[in-house]
Amino acid sequence: MGLGLTHSEEASILCFPSRPAARAIPAPRRLHLSPPQLAGGEYAALSATLDSGWIAPAGPAIPAFEEAVAAASGFAHVAAVSSGTAALHLGYRLLGIERGDTVWCSTLTFVATAAPAAQMGAQLRFLDVSPESWTLDPELLRDAMADAARRNRLPRAVVPVDLYGQCSDLAAITEICGHWGVPVLSDSAEALGATHRGQGAGRGARMAVFSFNGNKIVTAGGGGALASDDPALIARARHLATQAKEAAAHYQHETTGYSYGLSSILAAIGRVQLGALADRVAARRAVFARYVEALAGVPGLHFMPEPLWGRSTRWLTALQIDPAGFGADREAVRRALEEAGIESRPVWKPLHMQPAFRGSRFTGTGVAATLFERGLCLPSGAMSEAEQDRVVAVILDCAHRAGRA
Ligand SMILES: *Cc1c(COP(=O)(O)O)cnc(C)c1O
Repeated sequence: MGLGLTHSEEASILCFPSRPAARAIPAPRRLHLSPPQLAGGEYAALSATLDSGWIAPAGPAIPAFEEAVAAASGFAHVAAVSSGTAALHLGYRLLGIERGDTVWCSTLTFVATAAPAAQMGAQLRFLDVSPESWTLDPELLRDAMADAARRNRLPRAVVPVDLYGQCSDLAAITEICGHWGVPVLSDSAEALGATHRGQGAGRGARMAVFSFNGNKIVTAGGGGALASDDPALIARARHLATQAKEAAAHYQHETTGYSYGLSSILAAIGRVQLGALADRVAARRAVFARYVEALAGVPGLHFMPEPLWGRSTRWLTALQIDPAGFGADREAVRRALEEAGIESRPVWKPLHMQPAFRGSRFTGTGVAATLFERGLCLPSGAMSEAEQDRVVAVILDCAHRAGRA
């Protein structure tokens, strides 16, 4: 796959190098959900970084990247780290999470949101999402907090998750948590470039996490960031991320940290990519709008809503397929897309339904479970209109065969 070809293309190159290209019917390119996309300028940034001699997780590319993340997110202070998951781990550590502590977390998310807390020995309680935004339901949180306060069982942290480019309702969430003195760590890994009530993703939380993994809207090839308006927290994060070395010539450690530093090479790429963020948001929103337009009027299809208080990046176009209206279920559509060489994915399986988190508590009514059962994410990255039409055609074909459209 190294050449970015399909298996059959690769096989034909490897086995029949002299076959005339004109005779082969070119297989359409496999469409992926969110492939990495170059912004232009990466090569120049890379060679400048290599020429500078700063390759390690130190040197001028790191603060330059951190400043670019701060500018893009609206946070005052940012620590660059090796992944979003590492940033989450640091966030939990800075909040003082210890064995037996309780952490509340949105259930509709990727495993990385909760994995570090579970590995630290925390008890997880997963909360359902709101149908309005598919993110943590503030009304559910309000009731659960009041109830927990009555029983003297407040959580040590609440972790809302920004989903598929859409912010959670952080103003409501931080108001509720602030009332009870519970800190909020926002997993904004999927939502850099999105806003809620005019503020950047994660703003208002004590700390927020961003990811620059290869599938995110902008990428460093791998990397993450922990952001906060509190300079002491971010200074401490940097200290812990680089093995908690004290200022001494001999290696002196008052505590143990992690090897979570970001390579300068990746930071240089990430900084160039951040320059393209606004364009990426516009492009992803345009892809979403085209899907909505092309599939308008097909019964049983419901796109992920965008609440009035937020502006999503539409990192991934997600929709629900109601089998009663559409005539086929999500899996039938996903398999048909797969057969046409198109990657699509079910909406995250809620973490309270994951065997890895058996024994955790769940509070909710089943909104996330229904979204998992019916939800599908479609290719949403760099795509030509003709390629997007391929996706649409398969979905319309499923509807036709079901006799609904
Ligand atoms: C991508 C992602 C992460 C993890 O980021 P990495 O950089 O891949 O470690 C965490 N949470 C969510 C919701 C994500 O989508």
